[in-house]
Amino acid sequence: MHINGDFVRAADGRTFETVDPSTGERITEVAHAGAADVDSAVRAARLALEGPWGALPAIERGRLLGRLADLVEANAGELAELESRDGGKPISATTSMDVPGAVAQFRYFSGWPTKLEGRTIPVAMPDTLCYTRQEPVGVVAQILPWNFPLLMTSWKLGAALAAGCTVVLKPAEQTPLTALRLAELIVEAGFPPGTVNVLTGDGETGSLLVDHPDVDKIAFTGSTAVGREIGAKAGAGLKRLTLELGGKSPNIILADADLDAAIAGSYQGIYGNSGQACYAASRLFVHHSVFDEVVSGLVDRASTAVVGPALDPATEHGPLISAEQYQRVRAFVEDGVASGATLHGDVPPPALDGGYYIRPTLFIDVKPDMRIAREEIFGPVLVATPFDDLSEVVEYAHDTDYGLAAGVWTRNLGNAHTLAARLRAGVVYLNTWSAGDPAAPFGGVKASGSGREMGQPGVESYLEPKTVWTSLTPA
Ligand code: NAP
Ligand code: MG
Repeated sequence: MHINGDFVRAADGRTFETVDPSTGERITEVAHAGAADVDSAVRAARLALEGPWGALPAIERGRLLGRLADLVEANAGELAELESRDGGKPISATTSMDVPGAVAQFRYFSGWPTKLEGRTIPVAMPDTLCYTRQEPVGVVAQILPWNFPLLMTSWKLGAALAAGCTVVLKPAEQTPLTALRLAELIVEAGFPPGTVNVLTGDGETGSLLVDHPDVDKIAFTGSTAVGREIGAKAGAGLKRLTLELGGKSPNIILADADLDAAIAGSYQGIYGNSGQACYAASRLFVHHSVFDEVVSGLVDRASTAVVGPALDPATEHGPLISAEQYQRVRAFVEDGVASGATLHGDVPPPALDGGYYIRPTLFIDVKPDMRIAREEIFGPVLVATPFDDLSEVVEYAHDTDYGLAAGVWTRNLGNAHTLAARLRAGVVYLNTWSAGDPAAPFGGVKASGSGREMGQPGVESYLEPKTVWTSLTPA
């Protein structure tokens, strides 16, 4: 792990393996942080905040973030390969999206420190100056999942560092490697020791970090179950909180849509990253007049999908992250078949060459109460349902605990924007899916979480306004 600018072992010497999901083989051993390590990391972050990092002028914070962007860019090939090996993401994706995306995040956030202005408040009291300062929230715990390790690390770190916070980051146990390499680049960029600390470990490490009394804010991305638990603890400890949780997002194709674009975009929306995305377009609703055409378009496209090892440049869809996720997704597919839905695509074959591969899969004849229609599967499994009119499809779309993303495919601007306003979701995609940019806020409502990441709201979630009152009564 990486504490106060150095790689260190766990105080109690514990380690765990990180595995290549394309082969099921061990890559290396990583330190497993326990209570003593969590405490040293939080202490290092506090000292950096009260010391050299806290004293840096805003323009210097921006300069360091810019240097970090350059260093990530200069090491892009190595980071892409590490990310692909550790997380099973196709090298084509890590090269074209995850790593350039991380560069863009740091570059975007490098512009923020010098723009964080307080306000002068026009108060009623005479001879009084009242103003606000924008101060960092403090020491922040960031807990990450395995599906976009480097990219998510960059947007969480970028916002926190732009705001002037210091960070203790816990990557997912399945994907610790790019965060550790990034910690080295952070030192190389010139950030003071302790500004960013990386604690490798499992859920127990995450839990110890959440419980630490000197953590001011928790930013968590992961499952709704763990999010609820962290939310309850943050409430009891009165810690600031942002939660980015799961989804079961509705993707709606109206009769007048450009069907080629809708099929291609819906395919990417669910099967991109092998379905392991919180914003995955996992519930498809298609107007009955074009339902068969859309389903056969998706099934045809899926039949030619190249599923294979992450480092093969031809691979479109890599393996799932772990044997556990593989079994979990398989169980959902078997449950769908057993409950009477019709499966298109292969019933998942046994793991290929030790890797955790599942081909794109689609269900029709789905009833709203089936588990495949209600639960977040986090794999390449789509459920498709026909609808007749807009009110009906809005009802279907809302029949879920989640509210992360929603999408609409149509050529009718009125219907598009009416639905964009009506759909209860944090993000709406019109004639596209999974578009993203560091400047565009991202997050969900209902069981998909609270707060926003990226963009101005993302930076503001790491800031605490302080109100300063001054009497100007002449002496
Ligand atoms: P998870 O358990 O919620 O893990 C997310 C992060 O939280 C990991 O770093 C995890 O450490 C840590 N963690 C686990 N238990 C914790 C606790 N009690 N206190 C503090 N931190 C804790 O998610 P998962 O097990 O990786 O995946 C399970 C399901 O979550 C998926 O199937 C999917 O449905 C959902 N998921 C959603 C997202 C998303 O982007 N919203 C991402 C990933 C997964 P460990 O890695 O060591 O467990
Ligand atoms: Mg791994």
